[in-house]
Amino acid sequence: MQAMVLERLREPLQLLERPDPQPSDGEVRIRVSACGVCRTDLHVVDGELPNPKLPIVPGHEIVGRIDLVGKGISGLTVGMRVGVPWLGRTCGHCEYCREGRENLCDEPLFTGYSRDGGFATHAVADAKFVFPLPESGEDAAIAPLLCAGLIGWRSLKIAGEGKRIGLYGFGAAAHIIAQVARWQGRDVFAFTRPGDTAAQSFARKLGATWAGSSEEAPPERLDCAIIYAPVGPLVPLALGAVRKGGRVVCAGIHMSDIPAFPYRLLWEERQLRSVANLTRKDGDEFFKIAAQAAVVTETVRYPLRRANDALSDLRTGRLQGAAVLVPEPS
Ligand SMILES: [Zn+2]
Ligand SMILES: [Zn+2]
Repeated sequence: MQAMVLERLREPLQLLERPDPQPSDGEVRIRVSACGVCRTDLHVVDGELPNPKLPIVPGHEIVGRIDLVGKGISGLTVGMRVGVPWLGRTCGHCEYCREGRENLCDEPLFTGYSRDGGFATHAVADAKFVFPLPESGEDAAIAPLLCAGLIGWRSLKIAGEGKRIGLYGFGAAAHIIAQVARWQGRDVFAFTRPGDTAAQSFARKLGATWAGSSEEAPPERLDCAIIYAPVGPLVPLALGAVRKGGRVVCAGIHMSDIPAFPYRLLWEERQLRSVANLTRKDGDEFFKIAAQAAVVTETVRYPLRRANDALSDLRTGRLQGAAVLVPEPS
């Protein structure tokens, strides 16, 4: 197999030839046909998350076909089209797993962080955390649904039912969730980096009622807001944009420090909360919703060996929609 491997933090990924991975009992091997590039991959590469497995193959938005199954597998067979998300394994017995909150498991494995992911031609995954996918749609177009879509969906549920919803950071997740929110009949207010008129017109094209700079006040008070950009100073801005009782959700795994802000921004029962990881139930729900809402992803595709270019384009905000790596046919 070929893999783009992070050997040392904050260094470019290396293209390596490795022996094909072998699935253990309860695992499947997938021939990767596309793998999305998520901001979390950047946080892993940049050393912003604690204790990554090193060396690591990043990538947790995997779409491909099963090409080998380990012992003890039922329901998954060679040739099936599947997706592999960030949640790679949970312990099944900690208090969070027992409460049905496996996203908070005490001893989880995460794809592309604590076990090898999909920036490769092949990946091995725990069969219980693999989503069977329908045959419709292109592999590269589906890949961003596996994290941007899925964790976007979890953050949208946690934001609540409010009609006027703000999305801060109009990248891969927001461009999917804007479509779902429109389909639900909500009004979307899109906030981008100041001066990013391309992202603002992209948001309007996807049905946003209003699009502008994150430093601007929206024309109406918002019911809720989701922050997808890893930028702490957006927290007080978003709290200032929501109405009394409104909720602000931080959807990313890492954020720069949140600056001190006056209590009046939180006063009047405004709420601030984060979203961590996903549950398999989120995935089952979201793939149905994405089909009903006819979500169409906008992707920028890179050959697997150009993973470093994809990461740097994501870092500098040069991308519109979602970056996806595609292994070259061998
Ligand atoms: Zn992700
Ligand atoms: Zn657990």
